[in-house]
Amino acid sequence: MSTDTAAPLLDVRGLEAVYDSPRGPVHALNGVSFSVKPGEVLALVGESGSGKSASALAVMGLLQRTRGRVTAGNVLFRDQDLLALPERDLRGLRGKDIALVFQNPMTTLNPTLTIGAQLREVIRHHTGKSRREAGARALELLRLVEIPDPEARLKSYPHQLSGGLRQRVMIALALSCDPSLLITDEATTALDVTTQAQVLHLLKRLSAELGTALVVITHNMGVVAGLADRVAVMYAGRIVEIGAVDEVFYAPAHPYTAGLLGAIPQMDTPRSEDLVAIKGRPPSLLDLPGGCAFADRCPLVTAQCRAQRPEPVSPDRHTAACWADPELVRKEARTRIGSEAR
Ligand code: ADP
Ligand code: MG
Repeated sequence: MSTDTAAPLLDVRGLEAVYDSPRGPVHALNGVSFSVKPGEVLALVGESGSGKSASALAVMGLLQRTRGRVTAGNVLFRDQDLLALPERDLRGLRGKDIALVFQNPMTTLNPTLTIGAQLREVIRHHTGKSRREAGARALELLRLVEIPDPEARLKSYPHQLSGGLRQRVMIALALSCDPSLLITDEATTALDVTTQAQVLHLLKRLSAELGTALVVITHNMGVVAGLADRVAVMYAGRIVEIGAVDEVFYAPAHPYTAGLLGAIPQMDTPRSEDLVAIKGRPPSLLDLPGGCAFADRCPLVTAQCRAQRPEPVSPDRHTAACWADPELVRKEARTRIGSEAR
């Protein structure tokens, strides 16, 4: 872990990316800026289609594989511009310094190999350890991610494990080379609520213990509070609000964030009564409006919002890309979230 905790490990600036589609370029990322410090946990939150996965793929240099391309911006990892790195060097970084965990372990785990064989293969590939050393490390990793009866599990095949255990194996694989940054993309979405909470708690503990910086991508605002240090809220390929979790939850500065917070189900009220869903849908990324992309859904919309795009957020402090009077946004948030949620 870096001794200079003020210097970001990952610094994403003004990232723009498109997917080429038969109907023209899909503007998936439209100026995304955020940073992650060593050991920090950042949550990237937003509705489906807001550009969360595209951000992760762009950072990993994997966007081309999904027929996307970065058109502007920088991705600095330890002051090294990843977008300028040759694929060879990127491949060296991926999995070693920066690791990624996806939603569906069944597409990433090899069904024909035991858990132990897969772990050993990855460990040996990245570290050049001997078979025996890699075996010991594999066992250690299964213990680290709290898999019960780890000796027996090394001999199991992926289909013999529950969804939660498979996701723990994915985390073990991702951690096998001591990455300084781990990105999880909806890694727990497919799991039931209890298992999801357990895996997220595990991730947080591991991040704290190992000093691994974590970018947790989720569409579920409800999981952010107990997990992340900071949160970035995405909408239509932009970050519309960023800040420390406490500040953003206490005083959301963007009406969209207020809407997301209002939609978190409370424990003791029936779900249907409590979900204040945000009416409407995000704009088409084929043809983005010139002003604020949230204007059509925003309760505080003015003529300025339709005419002029709000200034982007400042990644290092609690800011929102919004023209509305902050006091009005706070009022709106209070009515949406309700006083008891505070
Ligand atoms: P999220 O992860 O937040 O749900 P994504 O980053 O996957 O969103 O997608 C951002 C936008 O890019 C969405 O509108 C999505 O439809 C579009 N998109 C994603 N992948 C492709 C692709 N391979 N081709 C065309 N459009 C895509
Ligand atoms: Mg996604």
